[in-house]
Amino acid sequence: MTTVDIKGISKQYLPGNPVLLPLDLCVNSGELFFLLGPSGCGKSTMLRIIAGFVKPDTGTVSFDRQDITDMPPEKRQTAMVFQNYALWPHMTVYENVAFGLNAAGVKNPELDRSVKAALETVQLGGYHDRKPTSLSGGQQQRVALARALAVNPKILLLDEPLSNLDARLRDSMRVEIRRICKERHLTAIYVTHDRKEALSMADRIAVIDKGAIQQIGTPEDLYRRPANRFVASFLGECNFISGTVISRGENKTVVETGIGTLTSALSPPEGDAKITVLIRPENILIGGDSAPNSFDAAIENGVFLGETAVWNINSNRCRLTVTELGTRPRTSGDKCRFSIAAENIVLLK
Ligand code: ADP
Ligand code: MG
Repeated sequence: MTTVDIKGISKQYLPGNPVLLPLDLCVNSGELFFLLGPSGCGKSTMLRIIAGFVKPDTGTVSFDRQDITDMPPEKRQTAMVFQNYALWPHMTVYENVAFGLNAAGVKNPELDRSVKAALETVQLGGYHDRKPTSLSGGQQQRVALARALAVNPKILLLDEPLSNLDARLRDSMRVEIRRICKERHLTAIYVTHDRKEALSMADRIAVIDKGAIQQIGTPEDLYRRPANRFVASFLGECNFISGTVISRGENKTVVETGIGTLTSALSPPEGDAKITVLIRPENILIGGDSAPNSFDAAIENGVFLGETAVWNINSNRCRLTVTELGTRPRTSGDKCRFSIAAENIVLLK
């Protein structure tokens, strides 16, 4: 159980090209914390700074409030899992998992006990003598995870660990990695560019763009109450409409928009009356005549996706996307009434 405190960490590899702007971050003990952002935004750099493989230009990293910024990586008691597994092909599964323990001077019977326990945890108890090349991608990644767990790290670091696996395997590994982290009360920092991975696994997420933290929060916070347009669109589909605030009140903001006057249950951003209104496609309901936030629109076209359909609609020359669950037959030109609950009208700068 270890806390991680990042204070004022910044990094540039090349002069004039900052990769991380000074940033602060706290990870709680036992937390599964995600760094989420597009490729090249500095996630792996941040993880390598925490592991000690990269030296930051400014700032400090502390574990359990002890400053470890200048501590060499092998003393930090972290373990890293990589996208490409990084297993030794000439060693058996058992030898791969024992590698870190051997290097740390751990002897039998403790060594044997730790290796077997780690392989049991990842459900590869019967695979001791196999070579990594005879295993599937998913099994190889489990061996890499067992190797990381075997050293009983203070902090588990995972850098896009599921990106090489196919979609179905990825789904089951998400559940399994979360289970293992929670069972072992591990503090874990997990890097990904995949929003679904972050939303489905994380206790909390830091969304990073251009070397800066855009927002930190629970998956639900970030999805439902994004701080800005970048976070909103990185976490899901969005409709953005320009609006003008015409009255501000406690839990009640009235905004004039192209689809009519909307009443939001949320506070507007500070400052300018010109704002952006965010409405997620699944929050625009078809029907609901008596709802306060309702409007007429015509269906322009749509895509049938099985359990849902996505419709492009046009209201007063304002184009919106609507996701409908449990689809009914609709055709281009159909005119419908649409409505939005006040708590789903999000107001952004
Ligand atoms: P991410 O993991 O979010 O994709 P990285 O931290 O790997 O991002 O990289 C961030 C930026 O830093 C990228 O533009 C990358 O090209 C650059 N970068 C990463 N490592 C090095 C390095 N060792 N030398 C020079 N530039 C680097
Ligand atoms: Mg990376």
